[in-house]
Amino acid sequence: MTKVFYDKDINKEALQGKKIAIVGYGSQGHAHAQNLRDSGYEVVVGLRPGKSHDKAKEDGFEVKAVADAVAEADVTMVLLPDENQPKVYEESIKDNMKPNSALAFAHGFNIHFNQVVPREDVDVFLVAPKGPGHLVRRTYEEEAGVPALYGIFQDVSGKATDVAMAYAAGIGAARAGVLETSFQEETETDLFGEQAVLCGGLTSLVKAGFETLTEAGYQPEVAYFECLHEMKLIVDLMYEGGMENMRYSISDTAQWGDFVSGPRVVNDETKARMKDVLTEIQNGKFAKGWILENQAGRPQFNAINNNEYNHPITKVGQDLRDLMPFVKQPVNDKKKEGKV
Ligand code: NDP
Ligand code: MG
Ligand code: MG
Repeated sequence: MTKVFYDKDINKEALQGKKIAIVGYGSQGHAHAQNLRDSGYEVVVGLRPGKSHDKAKEDGFEVKAVADAVAEADVTMVLLPDENQPKVYEESIKDNMKPNSALAFAHGFNIHFNQVVPREDVDVFLVAPKGPGHLVRRTYEEEAGVPALYGIFQDVSGKATDVAMAYAAGIGAARAGVLETSFQEETETDLFGEQAVLCGGLTSLVKAGFETLTEAGYQPEVAYFECLHEMKLIVDLMYEGGMENMRYSISDTAQWGDFVSGPRVVNDETKARMKDVLTEIQNGKFAKGWILENQAGRPQFNAINNNEYNHPITKVGQDLRDLMPFVKQPVNDKKKEGKV
């Protein structure tokens, strides 16, 4: 079995006394900055003027222009949106990093697809949390953590692995498990997971179920509870104890339905499409399309985002969640942040 590292296995000394520049203060940025600070490390946040800048200041961080934060850092963690990283790297990071310092990422996309070609005199590593940034922070505060992968692209100092592992521990990941990967494996599996299963697969499954029920004349509220709200309750059981735990908890009728109907919905045809998705990730077709879409100002992204937002499941969900104050509303939080 692959070696999984925990706090007791990791040499925290490797990061001690090093100044860490967190570039970006969004989903991952705020979590890395706050967790590392709480783990006892010195953090400076690199940003342009704007919302995140004000937020990081409010949260008590020293905030500087990206170039200035990078210039004084021993580790620069790039937590900008992937599509903005190449430009900011060229303009503000590349010429300001100290020789023998480390350049780090939370996702391998730009290095793997050659959108950022790093300087040769710095370490380059990856610490990729396998979870959304807000949970990286929330679980840390709960004395838990989100697992993470680390990988090394360039090891000039000879210490890149130790620094990467200590960084992963600093954000709380070694409470949950830290595994070695490569930039290639992290990039390809991350893109595949979010496209085929976690985000794309899940939203398409939920919408298709919701539409099937409402088109058959059932109440949208019932369809929402059945196909979306209850998803979390079921997934929590899988998260805690695997599919066997979920199946233990549901009724035998539900379990029989799982066995006979699940494979009719997600079948060999679906798996063949998953293989197509994986092939286009591996051969760079997906990356090229996304890079071009950004260069064109995101016409398709914005149109689809708008259509999706106007799906009937959005409104019924907002109304129902307003009546369940115990349910957090991340989409509405994002709306406040101007992201939707
Ligand atoms: P967000 O979109 O949440 O945050 C982006 C941050 O970058 C904001 O603080 C934004 O500030 C800042 N920013 C954007 N453009 C610039 C710029 N030109 N100059 C300076 N600051 C800028 O990003 P994520 O946290 O989602 O993603 C960061 C990285 O983490 C990516 O590589 C992603 O793949 C990876 N990752 C993300 C996960 C997630 O949970 N979201 C999970 C695992 C990895 P402003 O307010 O000024 O716009
Ligand atoms: Mg991911
Ligand atoms: Mg991703």
